[in-house]
Amino acid sequence: MADRTPLIAGNWKMNLEEWQAVELAGSIADGFKGTGVDVVLCPPFPWLVPVAAVLQGTPVALGAQDCSTETAGAYTGQVSPAMLNALCSYVIVGHSERRRDCCESNELVGQKANAALAAGLTPIACVGEALDIRDAGQAISWVEEQVDAIASAVGAEGVARIVIAYEPIWAIGTGRSATPDDAEDVVAAIRARVSATNATAGAQLRILYGGSANAENAAAYLATANIDGLLVGGASLKADSFLEIVSAAI
Ligand code: PEP
Repeated sequence: MADRTPLIAGNWKMNLEEWQAVELAGSIADGFKGTGVDVVLCPPFPWLVPVAAVLQGTPVALGAQDCSTETAGAYTGQVSPAMLNALCSYVIVGHSERRRDCCESNELVGQKANAALAAGLTPIACVGEALDIRDAGQAISWVEEQVDAIASAVGAEGVARIVIAYEPIWAIGTGRSATPDDAEDVVAAIRARVSATNATAGAQLRILYGGSANAENAAAYLATANIDGLLVGGASLKADSFLEIVSAAI
């Protein structure tokens, strides 16, 4: 089996004042010893610069929550992956909140993942089904379609260098997490889907679970065969709960 370093990513979404972001990043950097797991914090865009200053020289990586497909030019309000690369090493693309609020399609999410890779960033590409899709028994086929769009956009060589986050929409911010078995079923299907065309990439690909993950349930996800880490929203906003999740991955 491939050696996949666990990854714990904190998605701060549109939360925190600047001083709170700086304080939180400092507490997490102070509490993380830096071995056995990769840790990344994804603050809102305006706090990337002050948080980057806090994280400089620490083992905690910085990520953005979105990026443009474009490199530069007349794209008001967008931020290019190349600009982010000056500060960040990761970027979340295709979060369900952006798919919902900004009408991001599978195709666009794939293009963002590809643009991020081309700029030297590691995209954390999100996929996941709504409750009606799950109730209809179509969760895996829905997610496979999302994964296919991302894999075809980044190409055979790129797919081993991305991170996929399986985030069932009904579990995000609801306190209703997927059971570790249900999450593992979908994550295993994602790995099998990628492996079917590229066995090496499928073995190397890191796949995270996200959706009401917290200090209490983290270890159960991380004990599964295919879940390589967690994308954490609410529980990433407090240093102690986030650090407990990080410890569960070591
Ligand atoms: C997320 O926003 O990616 C997320 C998983 O949020 P939460 O942990 O709050 O469900």
